[in-house]
Order: sequence, then C-alpha cells, then structure tokens
Amino acid sequence: MNLLDGKKAAQAIKDELKIDVAQLVSEGKKIPHLVAVLMGNDGASETYVAAKVKACDEVGFKSTLFRFTKNEPANRLFEKIHELNHDPDVDGILVQLPLPGHIDEKQIIDAIDPDKDVDGFHPVSVGKMVQGLPSFVAATPLGIMLLIKHYNIETKGKHAVVVGRSNIVGRPISILLNNNTNPGNCTVTVCHSKTTDIQSICLQADIIIAAIGKAKFITADMVKEGAVVIDVGITRVPDDSKKRGYRLQGDVDFENVAPKCSWITPVPGGVGPMTIAALLQNTFQSCTEKN
Ligand code: NAP
Repeated sequence: MNLLDGKKAAQAIKDELKIDVAQLVSEGKKIPHLVAVLMGNDGASETYVAAKVKACDEVGFKSTLFRFTKNEPANRLFEKIHELNHDPDVDGILVQLPLPGHIDEKQIIDAIDPDKDVDGFHPVSVGKMVQGLPSFVAATPLGIMLLIKHYNIETKGKHAVVVGRSNIVGRPISILLNNNTNPGNCTVTVCHSKTTDIQSICLQADIIIAAIGKAKFITADMVKEGAVVIDVGITRVPDDSKKRGYRLQGDVDFENVAPKCSWITPVPGGVGPMTIAALLQNTFQSCTEKN
C-alpha cells in the first residue's frame, strides 16, 4: 500500500506558486489577490477560511476576508459581490458555503463574475468544464486530479467508481475522470443514495472516489485488491481523547481498506490540503490571465 500524501503534493504545488509569485514581483507585475466572504461564525467554515487565508500568505498572494453576521440581509452580500466583481485588484472571489438559511446560495454563486469564480461553482465554469473547455474547476475535484497527476497514477482505460453526486465533488470529478485528458479517460460509474448494491459496483472499481459524508462507509469487502482509493469525506466524530472533543473521519474504513489498496489517501492529509492548493492555482491563473 502506498499513501497518496496530499500534504506533500500540496506543498510541491505551493512551492512552485511561491516561485511564480516571486517572478511576478521581480517583473513589477500584479500579485494574485483572493477575497473570501464569510457569513456567520460556523466553526468548520471559520477553520476552512482561516486555512485558505494562511495558504495565500504562504505563497505570497494578497488575501482579504470580509465578514458578515449570520442575519445580514442578502442585499448586503450582493452589494459586496458586485463591488468585488468590478474591483480590478481582485482576482478571485470565494463565498464560503454553507450560507445561512435566508440566503439563496445559488443566486449568490450566480452573482460572482465567472472570470473571478475561483471556486468553480458558477454555471458558466461548470458548463465549460463539462465541454472540456478551459475553465475554473471546483477546488476539490481539481485537487483530486492534481493529486492523481502528482503521483503519476495511470487512469486511462480504468474503471472509476464515484460514490456521491454532489455539484461540488461527485459530479465534477466524475466528468473530469471521464474527459479525454491525462489524467482522465476513465470509464466512470456514479453511485448515490438510491443506487442498489453499491458493494458489487465498488468491487469492480480500479479507482474509488468516496464523497458521501458518512464515516467509514467504504469497507474492505467493497474494495478489490490493488484498487486506488481516494477519500474525500470529512466527518467530525466525537472523541474524548482529543482536546477539541472530536476527530476527523473519512468515508473509508482506512485501517481495514488500506492493506488491499495500491494507493490510498489518508484523512486528514489527503484531499483536504489539495483542495486549498487547487484554489491557489485557480487564483494564480485568474491573475495571470487578466494581467
Ligand atoms: P453532499 O452534498 O451531502 O453529497 C453527498 C452525496 O453522497 C450525495 O450525492 C448523496 O446521494 C450521496 N450519499 C449519501 N448517502 C449515501 C449512501 N448511503 N449511499 C450512497 N450515496 C450516498 O456532500 P458533499 O458536499 O459532496 O461532501 C461529501 C463529503 O466530502 C463530506 O464529508 C464533506 O465534508 C467532504 N468534503 C471534503 C472536502 C475536502 O476538501 N476534503 C471538500 C468538500 C467536501 P444523493 O444525491 O442521492 O442524496
């Protein structure tokens, strides 16, 4: 079993970005600027946004965080997005999801200028991605593709089974793996909560992408010998031995599945760091394409 170490792969991407930013600075060019918008004070969202801001600092990007209270009316958020869309210094706009219940997330995402949609959630970005055109690809599926590329995992002609069909992970990664690209060119099966007999489908998989959000859902009897297993899931499981009272658990029963795999991601330290590296890469791309 080999580990798909997302921390190492993400560091390699960040090291390259650092060099690229230094190059921009030496040429007197604009450096990338990512703006994050955070509404309310959900603990997980705070953690994710803090990690993204820290990653910007690490590679030399400019970053700005705008905070809104959880009861702020939707029009205040729209005004801010409109302002950011028209600010030439801003390369990427990220609205941390989920948003409070009174805000229509789809309307907010649709309001972001597709040229600054570094999260890759805008319908224009998704449409381009589906057609195999250059676009911003959502950070988590892009991160998975970068991880596969970093470790030179052969995907051509392989059967990939994606468990989960959300717009932010399952569906886009199923399309990317199926595209005529390298990595890509997989035959892809997508499973969801209404799929019958997921076990027998997973047993046919050369590559399993687990993006469900159910701790230890993928068990050893669902995985064939030599499979590549990529675990996207993050569930907070109560754990009194931890200072914070919980630990992060993936969708895969790592301990029992790992011995059967050729490659597997840990949780944490797998897809999570790659998601942030992919967001940085999108922001760099946005900056250099515009300037
Ligand atoms: P989501 O929107 O809740 O989607 C979950 C998907 O799993 C749905 O398509 C659902 O099917 C399917 N599903 C649920 N129960 C199932 C079951 N028993 N059998 C088969 N399929 C089932 O979640 P998400 O946003 O995609 O996130 C998935 C997980 O990844 C979460 O743990 C999340 O925290 C994590 N995540 C991690 C990162 C990272 O950077 N590491 C980024 C994003 C998300 P239906 O469509 O039929 O409901």
